[in-house]
Amino acid sequence: MTNQSLSLNIQESVVRQVEEIGDEMISFLQDLTRIPTINPPGQNYIDGARCIGNKLEEFGYETHYITAEGCAEHTERNPRVNVLGRREGTQPRPSLHFNGHFDVVPVGDGWTVDPFGAEIRDGKLYGRGTSDQKAGIAASIFAVEAIRRAGIRLRGTVEQSGSVDEESGGFAGVAYMAKQGWIGKDKTDFVIITEPTDVNRVCLGHRGVYWFKVTTHGRIAHGSMPHLGISAVDQLVDFLHDVTYQLKPSLATRKTAVPVEPPGSRFASINVNSIFGGQAEEGTQTPCVVDRSGAIFDRRFLAEEDFEQVRAEVKKLLEDLSAKNPEFKYKLEDLMIVHPVQTNPKCELVSSISESAEIIFGRRPMLTASPGTYDQKHVVRLGSVEQCIAYGPGILNQAHLPDEHVLVADVITSAKVMALTAMKLLGTE
Ligand SMILES: [Zn+2]
Repeated sequence: MTNQSLSLNIQESVVRQVEEIGDEMISFLQDLTRIPTINPPGQNYIDGARCIGNKLEEFGYETHYITAEGCAEHTERNPRVNVLGRREGTQPRPSLHFNGHFDVVPVGDGWTVDPFGAEIRDGKLYGRGTSDQKAGIAASIFAVEAIRRAGIRLRGTVEQSGSVDEESGGFAGVAYMAKQGWIGKDKTDFVIITEPTDVNRVCLGHRGVYWFKVTTHGRIAHGSMPHLGISAVDQLVDFLHDVTYQLKPSLATRKTAVPVEPPGSRFASINVNSIFGGQAEEGTQTPCVVDRSGAIFDRRFLAEEDFEQVRAEVKKLLEDLSAKNPEFKYKLEDLMIVHPVQTNPKCELVSSISESAEIIFGRRPMLTASPGTYDQKHVVRLGSVEQCIAYGPGILNQAHLPDEHVLVADVITSAKVMALTAMKLLGTE
């Protein structure tokens, strides 16, 4: 029997146990925060994986270090090492897999505290990667440990993984683990990715991404006689104009029914990531008509939009320009395509975590979707696990900022929700 209603006794004793091990949880989070697992370039991953792996071993998990052999990102200087712990219950299924990425983005300017000092001040734990998302890793490990220390045995199986490279696409991290069969529908029933969602929000999925590059081609000439050449920059300007004044206003009218947070991200959008063309900024300039220019675009699309149409719309703008101006020569390249994913809000995983959050907060959590993508795409597309969500302490808009922090109380509260959820999903003996 799964999704069982837990007796008041069991609930209370586990919630109390989470509080009792709160200090231990926070001290582990401090240890993990002090390892600068910065990505790019992907530093200190072995230390990060060991820190998590040692704790999992101490708590009775069988652990595996999964090195992303064959991935271009995996180098001698910056090896890509993930860690996965498995603790079988009295039966192998159902199985619940908690995943958190332990890579953190570079520090950046503007810090008033040591970004790897893990200092606690006024109930906040500071450090790069605290909210995004080492706090989530600490919460899930100690959530399950609290169940054990309360003397309760889980019927199903728990797995916990710490993965790398989420911040750069997750290919040597969750994608690698899914491809190698460590996470997949043959063995995994539920996945909770412990990204920061805020303690009473559950994230069901994310929007789609289409990164593309447009290169325009002209003809070089002397800059004093530009009429003899064809400026690739002029061509690019024409395209940028149409993107800004035709495509953008049209995208702004398309709104998803999916509860993306923040609400401003419920609309389809496009952003220019970079533009290029002509001579390098530094160095000596020579008078030349630019013969090659271009830009890289980041188009975010909605669950309601069809990808082929998203691309066709871009292509049509380019073709229209070609039709108007025979000298308009371009190349369109796809750089990255991520389809939107959304877990069914009525599935067992979402209902179990919603009921658990309601026990802790007295109200149901808000169900949201993320404007940007995260590792859920790999779990769903490569691992074919249908029931996957994100839930964890920390607030997404803290992520990547100077003075990043997480509320200590939130880490503990989210661990309570995770513990109750694990018991509901896996059953107890
Ligand atoms: Zn993250």
